[in-house]
Amino acid sequence: MVKDATLDVLIVGAGPTGLTLAIDLARRGVDCHLVERTEGPRTASRAKTIQPRALEVADDLGVIQQVLELGQVHVPTRHYDRDRVISEGVSTALGMSDPGVPYAPVWLSQPMFERILRDRLAELGGRIEWGTEVTAVAQTDDAVEVTVSGAAGEGRIRARYVVGCDGGRSVVRKRSGAALEGVSYGEHRWWLGDVHITGLDRHCQHVWMSREHGILSLFPLPSTDLWQFQASVPADDSDPAAPTLDLFRRLFTERAGLAEVTIDDAGWLSLYEINVALVDRYRIGRIFLAGDAAHVHSPAGGQGMNTGIQDAYNLGWKLAAVLEGAAESLLDTYELERRPVARAVLDDSTSRLHSLMRSAGDGSGAAAVAGLTDDFTTGLTIAYTESPLSEPGLDYARVRAGDRAPDAVVLDASTGREVRVFDLLRGTHWTVLNFDHGSPARRNGSRSPFATAPKTIRITTDTTATGPDTMIDLGGRAHDSYDITGDTAILIRPDGYIAARTEA
Ligand SMILES: Cc1cc2nc3c(=O)[nH]c(=O)nc-3n(C[C@H](O)[C@H](O)[C@H](O)COP(=O)(O)OP(=O)(O)OC[C@H]3O[C@@H](n4cnc5c(N)ncnc54)[C@H](O)[C@@H]3O)c2cc1C
Repeated sequence: MVKDATLDVLIVGAGPTGLTLAIDLARRGVDCHLVERTEGPRTASRAKTIQPRALEVADDLGVIQQVLELGQVHVPTRHYDRDRVISEGVSTALGMSDPGVPYAPVWLSQPMFERILRDRLAELGGRIEWGTEVTAVAQTDDAVEVTVSGAAGEGRIRARYVVGCDGGRSVVRKRSGAALEGVSYGEHRWWLGDVHITGLDRHCQHVWMSREHGILSLFPLPSTDLWQFQASVPADDSDPAAPTLDLFRRLFTERAGLAEVTIDDAGWLSLYEINVALVDRYRIGRIFLAGDAAHVHSPAGGQGMNTGIQDAYNLGWKLAAVLEGAAESLLDTYELERRPVARAVLDDSTSRLHSLMRSAGDGSGAAAVAGLTDDFTTGLTIAYTESPLSEPGLDYARVRAGDRAPDAVVLDASTGREVRVFDLLRGTHWTVLNFDHGSPARRNGSRSPFATAPKTIRITTDTTATGPDTMIDLGGRAHDSYDITGDTAILIRPDGYIAARTEA
């Protein structure tokens, strides 16, 4: 255990949120440390979808290849009435055929994704302090003092900033005085578990919905031989049975009854109650909250892990910039930008849950399952247009300041090779994309407000253009993605959102 250390950033919790933040800070060279209460990695499956926007974050952080190798795209849903198949289909979402969107949702269990993140963190020289539980936090004007306890006893860590990524029961949140405001949906409880199943086709998710029994869903977890078992607890069951393998077998026989299917060897088994709540503040002085520590909600729509990843990605570059001398007020934009996103996710996942429960048994079940992924859940429509970091102007453009910077394929004039705009954005820098239709790019003239100059790229439709950092936009695909009509400069933040857009 670390004792009496002083660092720039202490991250509490090695779930997907804490790991994402640790990677982002490590690649920026920030002196940070990650403590985790458990003695080692958790194995329960929980989240199993990585949405398109979170995949773009994974791309920037250097883990997309592993995610695509271990995960599965387009897992169909097969919907049954007892042993009769009613329908089978893949839910579709924004961007499946949009050149500005490189990734469709990937199915991968949370422990596999966390393993990929841990490997990346180790590659960057970061370390997790396992078996180290934060028990108290106290802050002064210039630091936060954190009390930790572990096998070696109690210790203290001093850090300039602390980020609580310690989940729904966050000690950092409770000790820092922030309040989690919301409701518990006691009537929405689920039996959940990871089990082995034989006799069931692994290429799709299997779902049974009935008025009498509720919902049963079996999901094959890619790159494992496990299935995630989910069964709703009937609304009138006020004292649900403890989760056991025998109970899961009985639920399967009652709701599905496929005689050839056997369920064995359960790992994680749980009874899960849905809470919907949002923290009143994301920043308490030098303490920040991110992921489930700041917002908890129904898993319907698969948003929890994805939202936490994006919280961390929003905060990482800001912490690094402030530690390098940027104004402290930059850190206030974290809450301004991310809390409204969480609010929208809470509302969306609650209404999705209600419509899922309503549709169980009334014949619209298949539609409800198909609708679990849509434009909202992709995360691609998240925008920070109201943020003080988004320079107002050019309201008529389809892609504006505050929007996510889209992808496109262009040709590198120096090498003649195709590259993606995302290849140009990847890394810790700001980027200026100078779009033109053949006029020489503007490069000099104004003084840069940045400590480190942004990477500047010319994207031109002039097919004869040459020179370094010059991209030829064959067919005008990038111009189209960014809705460019005249010469335009676009400034993109390190987290892939447009900060400003100006025309010549
Ligand atoms: C059944 C189920 C299905 C889900 N499906 C989806 C889905 O499809 N898509 C999706 O996006 N999300 C889904 N979620 C939600 C997702 O699992 C969570 O949103 C996600 O785990 C949040 O990540 P986190 O890192 O913020 O918190 P956590 O994953 O909870 O990680 C917090 C970490 O902090 C550690 N910790 C806690 N207290 C302390 C302390 N005092 N000191 C040190 N360490 C501490 C914990 O041990 C833990 O490792 C699902 C959840 C469930 C239960």
